Amino acid sequence: MKYALVNNTKTEATPGAKGTCPSCGSELIAKCGKIKIHHWAHKGTRNCDPWWENETEWHRSWKNSFPVEWQELPLPDEQTGKKHIADVRTSDGLVIEFQNSPIDLQERTTREKFYKDMVWVVNGTRLKGDYPRFIKGNSYLLATNMPKIFRIGYPDVCFPSAWLGCSVPVLFDFRGTEPRDIPDDVNKNLYCLFPTRVGRYAIIAEVSRTVFIDKTINGEWLSRTHNFMNKLSISNQKEKAQLAFERELYRNFKQETTGGSPGN
Ligand SMILES: [Zn+2]
Repeated sequence: MKYALVNNTKTEATPGAKGTCPSCGSELIAKCGKIKIHHWAHKGTRNCDPWWENETEWHRSWKNSFPVEWQELPLPDEQTGKKHIADVRTSDGLVIEFQNSPIDLQERTTREKFYKDMVWVVNGTRLKGDYPRFIKGNSYLLATNMPKIFRIGYPDVCFPSAWLGCSVPVLFDFRGTEPRDIPDDVNKNLYCLFPTRVGRYAIIAEVSRTVFIDKTINGEWLSRTHNFMNKLSISNQKEKAQLAFERELYRNFKQETTGGSPGN
C-alpha cells in the first residue's frame, strides 16, 4: 500500500518505519527494497483486502494524480462486514480502480456491484499483444456525429476480451510507464469503452489523460458519463423499436405478396 497511518496521518513508506493499516488497523511494515516500489505491507503475506493488487510504478503514477485524501480509501462492505480499499474515491463518490493484473469474472462483477459509480483504468501494456492489437484494430472504429466518439461492431479487435462485458466504463491506458518503441502517438490518449451498446455497436470515446483527471477531480466526469450513457440507452431503445417496425413492415409485405404466413 502507498499509505499507512503514522500518528494518524497518511504517510508513505520510509526505511524502518512502522504504521497502521487505515483499513483494518493492524500493524504495517515499510518495505523499501530495491526491486519493488516502496510500500507498506501487512505482517502476513496477504493484504486485509482480498481485492488488493500489488502496486507497480504504473499504479503509483496514476494515484499521484489525485488528492491524497482520495487515495486508498477504505469502504465498508455491509454484506461481509469487511472493508475494501478503493484506489481512488472522489468526493462525489466516483471510484477509480487501476488494474494491472488479470482479474476473474466473478471478482470483477462483484467489485463493480460494490463500488457502483466506478471506472476501471486498465493497463494496456501489461501483455505484449494488447497494444499492437489496438493499433491494428482501431482502423475499425467508425466515426459518429460526435467528436472523439466512435462505434465498433466487434470491440474484441481492439481490446482484451476479458474487459468487454463490464457494467461500468473501462478506460484502456496503452502508454503505461515505459517509453514505447512503436513510433506513433495513438497511446497518448485513453480509450473509454462504455457498458451501453447501441444496436450491435459498442461505443468508445477517446479521452485525453488530462481531461480524464481534471473532470474526475472537478466532478464533471460522473454527471457527463451518466448523461451520455442515458442517451446511449435511449438510442438503443430507438434502434430496437426501428428494427421491430421494419420486421413488422416486412411481415405485412410478405403476407400481402404471398397471401400466407411469412413465418419469421
Ligand atoms: Zn489492513
